[in-house]
Amino acid sequence: MIKLENIHKYYDSQHVLKGINLTVNRGEVVSILGPSGSGKSTLLRCINFLEQPTSGIVEVSDKRVNVESASKTDIFSLRTSTGMVFQQYNLFKNLTVLQNVMIGLTSVKQINKDEAKKISIDILERVGLNNRLSHYPAQLSGGQQQRVGIARALALNPEVLLFDEPTSSLDPELVDEVLTTIKGVANEGNTMLIVTHELNFAREISDRVIFMEDGTIIEEGTAEQIFNNPSVERTKKFLGKVI
Ligand code: ATP
Ligand code: MG
Repeated sequence: MIKLENIHKYYDSQHVLKGINLTVNRGEVVSILGPSGSGKSTLLRCINFLEQPTSGIVEVSDKRVNVESASKTDIFSLRTSTGMVFQQYNLFKNLTVLQNVMIGLTSVKQINKDEAKKISIDILERVGLNNRLSHYPAQLSGGQQQRVGIARALALNPEVLLFDEPTSSLDPELVDEVLTTIKGVANEGNTMLIVTHELNFAREISDRVIFMEDGTIIEEGTAEQIFNNPSVERTKKFLGKVI
């Protein structure tokens, strides 16, 4: 599970997260919607300390960290218990598909090469890429690259998975294959927090939906509530515009 308590984040004097409280229970899928610049990516990145939150408490699984006194061990623990999928894939261009998935296992988890290879091939099979093991990222479609990104996140068997607009860089005809892969991952019972602009997808996959604006959560509810009956004017307007 993920639990955030009163998370604030400043970039210099800019107050980007203004006291975020959020819980994602074990096995729950929560989507974050909201306009550009509202702090969605910053929020995800504060969970695994890709950005250092300014104050508050981050809890992942049973590791509870006061961000102002976080030790290196705390940060390592948060990083290894979260897997992240990025908009721009962030694959290593000089490594093959198989090596991209294996590297976290051999370097972070110190698993031996043979075992890491076996685990990685299994996971690549799950995302439908076991016929592309020796390809380099440049030899793959965007959708395939993103599925490698998902496989890489899954390989470390993290407690929670964070997705930051995983389909925003893709050509429209490649979006579905990635969304289908993510749905498969959700159906396996993973705990997931997803920033997305794909409203139909969010509606279908989410147990809960959160709407952010200007560094705060302004509305939260089941997908049903948020899409059929949003109570906040700003949410209505946003959904109306994007739909
Ligand atoms: P989008 O939908 O466009 O991805 P977002 O909701 O993810 O937007 P963030 O990327 O979290 O928004 O940005 C929130 C605010 O923080 C923006 O005003 C942005 O300019 C600022 N910001 C984000 N990253 C940094 C950074 N590394 N340094 C300084 N300011 C930043
Ligand atoms: Mg963003």
